[in-house]
Amino acid sequence: MAVQEQNSIRHDWTRDEVLAMFNQPFNDLLFDAQVMHRRHFNPNSVQLSTLLSIKTGACPEDCKYCPQSARYDTGLEKEKLLEIETVIEAAKVAKASGSSRFCMGAAWRSPHDRDIPAVAHMIREVKALGLETCMTLGMLSEEQSGKLADAGLDYYNHNLDTSKEFYGEVITTRTYQDRLNTLANVRNSGMKVCAGGIVGMGEEQKDRAGLLMELANLPHHPESVPINMLVKVAGTPMASEEDLDPFEFIRTIAVARLMMPKSYVRLSAGREEMNEQMQAMAFMAGANSIFYCDKLLTTPNPKANSDMQLFERLGIKPEEYQVDKNSEEQEADLHQVIAESKTDLLFYRAG
Ligand code: SF4
Repeated sequence: MAVQEQNSIRHDWTRDEVLAMFNQPFNDLLFDAQVMHRRHFNPNSVQLSTLLSIKTGACPEDCKYCPQSARYDTGLEKEKLLEIETVIEAAKVAKASGSSRFCMGAAWRSPHDRDIPAVAHMIREVKALGLETCMTLGMLSEEQSGKLADAGLDYYNHNLDTSKEFYGEVITTRTYQDRLNTLANVRNSGMKVCAGGIVGMGEEQKDRAGLLMELANLPHHPESVPINMLVKVAGTPMASEEDLDPFEFIRTIAVARLMMPKSYVRLSAGREEMNEQMQAMAFMAGANSIFYCDKLLTTPNPKANSDMQLFERLGIKPEEYQVDKNSEEQEADLHQVIAESKTDLLFYRAG
C-alpha cells in the first residue's frame, strides 16, 4: 500500500491490510515507513528512557517469557519495593546520562492499594528532577489509575504482548480483556499509554499483525509502542524458542510505524542481541525510542556508552538532550552523580 494512502490516523485496520503491508518487498516497506516517519518526527532523533526495577521477582503471573514469574526457576534474586532514596539516586543518574523519561517497573499482578502511596511518592520525587515518569505495575483499577494520574504520572506501560488468538499460549493467569481494561482505565484517567508486545515467542506473522491491529485499533493510539524481541531466559518455558528472522523483526517495526504514525516506536528488550546494523535498520524503519540502561528489568541491554557511539556514527541525537552542555560537561555531571550515589543501582527490563 502506497504511503500516500496512509496519510490519516486510522483505527479500523483489518488483518488482511496489515498482512499486505508485512508482505511487501522489504525495500518498499522500509521506504514507506521512513517517509511516514519523516512526516511526523525528526528522523535523526531518538528518545531515551531508563528503566528501573522497583520490585523484582516473585510475581504470581505465569507469563511464559518472564524470569520474574515465581513459577519458573531462573535463579533471579527477589527484591522488595525499593526505598525512595534508591529510586531518586537512580533517576539522577538516568537524567545525567541523557534520559528524558524514567520508567519504574514492579513485578506485581496488580498493585495493592496499600502500595499506591509509596509509588505515588516515587512519581512526585522523580518528576521534581525534571524527568518524565512512567510506571509498569501490572493491572490497574479505575481508582488506582486515578491516584497515579493525580500523583503526576505521565505514562503507564501495560503491554498486550501478542495477538488475541496467540495470547493463551503465553499467559493463562489474566485475560486479554483484563489487559484492555487496564489500558482503558489508564487512558480514561488522562495518562499517556505505553503498550506494545513481544515477538519471537513462536507466534506466526498473523499474530504479529494481530498485535499491531489491536494496538492501532484502540480508540487512541498508544503514545509509546515498545516492540520487544523475546529474550530467551534459561528456566522460562520459552527458553528454547526458535530465533525470529531479523528481517521479520524489522518488518514489524516498519508496519508499527505505518499504522501508528505519531507514536514513539520503541526498540525494547532483545536489543543486546541485535548487531549495530540491525539496530540502524530498525531506526530506518521508524523506531525512535530505546531503553538506555545496562539492564532491562532482569535481562542485559547494550551499555550506555556503546549506544552513544552508535548514535554518533549514525548522526542520531538523543531527544531532549541537554544541548546547552558539551559532552565533557555531561560526562562530568554523570560521574559526579554516580560518585555521590550511596547504593549500587540496578536497572532492569519491563513486563
Ligand atoms: S511479565 Fe510482568 S506480570 Fe508477567 S510474570 Fe513477568 S512481572 Fe509478572
